Amino acid sequence: MNKQKLFIWLLAAAVPLVALLPLPDFWIAQLNYIGLYALVCLGLVLLTGVGGLTSFGQAAFVGVGAYTTAYLTLNTGMSPWLTLLVGLGITAISALVVGAITLRMSGHYLPLATIAWGLSLYYLMGNLDALGKYDGLLGLKSLSIGSLDIGQGRLFFILTWAILIAGAVALLNLLDSRPGRAIRSLKGGSQMAEAMGISTFRYKVTIFLIAALFASIAGWLLAHFQRTVNPSAFGLKMGIEYLFMAVIGGVGYVWGAIVGAALIKLLDDYLQVALPALIGTSGSYEVIVFGIAMVLVLKYMPDGIWSLVARKLPRPPRKMDWQAAAPLSARSKPGMGELVLKVDKIRKQFGGLTAVNDISFDIHAGQIVGLIGPNGAGKSTTFNLITGVLAKTSGHVTYRGHDISALPSREISRQGMARTFQHVKMIPDMTVLENVALGAYTRGETGVLSSMLGTNKSEEQRCMKEAQHQLERIGMGNYLHEQAGNLAMGPQRLMEIARALCCDPALLLLDEPAAGLRHKEKQELIKVLRQLQSEGMSILLVEHDMDLVMDVCDHLVVMEFGTLLTQGTPAEIQASPAVRAAYLGTEH
Ligand code: ADP
Ligand code: MG
Repeated sequence: MNKQKLFIWLLAAAVPLVALLPLPDFWIAQLNYIGLYALVCLGLVLLTGVGGLTSFGQAAFVGVGAYTTAYLTLNTGMSPWLTLLVGLGITAISALVVGAITLRMSGHYLPLATIAWGLSLYYLMGNLDALGKYDGLLGLKSLSIGSLDIGQGRLFFILTWAILIAGAVALLNLLDSRPGRAIRSLKGGSQMAEAMGISTFRYKVTIFLIAALFASIAGWLLAHFQRTVNPSAFGLKMGIEYLFMAVIGGVGYVWGAIVGAALIKLLDDYLQVALPALIGTSGSYEVIVFGIAMVLVLKYMPDGIWSLVARKLPRPPRKMDWQAAAPLSARSKPGMGELVLKVDKIRKQFGGLTAVNDISFDIHAGQIVGLIGPNGAGKSTTFNLITGVLAKTSGHVTYRGHDISALPSREISRQGMARTFQHVKMIPDMTVLENVALGAYTRGETGVLSSMLGTNKSEEQRCMKEAQHQLERIGMGNYLHEQAGNLAMGPQRLMEIARALCCDPALLLLDEPAAGLRHKEKQELIKVLRQLQSEGMSILLVEHDMDLVMDVCDHLVVMEFGTLLTQGTPAEIQASPAVRAAYLGTEH
């Protein structure tokens, strides 16, 4: 079993035991707050730690959940269990609206936008008569099941922590799944993820939504626990504090959420008593201490406190339970010799520079075409135009009879065109196997919900089996459980090829696959390329290693300064005076 999951089960066993201990009520109340805060932080682990999106606005979503249940139970007599659903609905709508507006923003704009959202909701809550203005709403009922009051003390503790544990399990399940790998790819920028067929925008909205829903549930619990709501608990200060908790605990770890929430809550209480006594006046001085602590943590433990523990825990290799799994379904492939790709006068201008100047060539099934030329000739740009990473200034690309000129890269990859990158793009903290499984994204269909519930086992096994197969095929069978970030350059490139193969492509585009490979690895690569070719795969290859190019390619396209210099068989190209001149830099 995964160590993280083992901890979860230990925690699940500890909760009822703690409830039975003769702890003072004060400590049970503290644990209740810690559980609530940790639930909000859990959302931040997904959103900020995994997805790389910083939000200061989580407290506002806690407020949406809290105010919805407070208003409805007080004014309509609706059951709190029903208002939870209404609250989640309202939260979902507001998260989708806020997300749709803000998540296309890059850099610092997103955190700023979440600050704006947090502030505006705070003033809205504080100014609406129906919500009691800054006094808030008082006299909420505590939660009950039938006549059993579970709104306070030990039963509430069990409820809160049961929800928290369920949330943590769901999150851990999600991270080890098809959508989870897509979410983990967000941090590295959108290019690679989109090239794997992933809609990065959709997943950003999804994790924003999940984090908001976690916060909303916490708000619902908080309202019935305190039996009163007022805006101060949902303002920007609290939004910042939630982020503190997550970051100090370790925003990349599910366990960091609980550690951070516990630490900040206990420290907060202690400082509120200790600091005024020390300084002699009262005030919110604890915020200053938190600020300093945050700076120190970011400087000396950028991955948070839990990272110290996580480093000590060996990561056991994933249990390989997929040997009997059925293979993933395969695409229909073009017949040998069929026209696969038609590039027709594609052009790309960057301002005044014409990087690709009306380039045309064809690729047929089973052909290995080499695209060569000196540095800066426009090869990578040509790649990016074909795969939809860059928009063409003009020209057309037809893939297996369909005009794909206007499609974004994720749609093109869905049609079975896979690529690698000149500068390797991967998820360094995932294993090689998981990175390669990302390539099979378009061949699966498991969604977020079934991944969270853990009902995606069979597809996950099929996907892992495929990833293992592609890695073994390319001679990487010994690296399955290695952290991708620890690999040397050569194996990283091979891993990218395995990832591309996982997409079950009919056309493979490789940008300098042999760069950084040792002699033996190059021989392996040549063998794999030949093997693929014999199976009818078409390959477009950009490569500087002329021995390799002349050895494996059937056809060469030579570019210079963005234009097509000539094309032909390797023998023709080698004999061409124009090509020699281009490479040796002499006049021709
Ligand atoms: P190659 O892969 O053949 O070495 P590239 O396609 O990377 O060449 O680059 C071709 C030309 O286009 C170079 O002069 C490069 O500086 C320019 N170029 C590439 N990408 C951009 C960009 N995003 N903006 C401006 N110029 C670019
Ligand atoms: Mg290049």
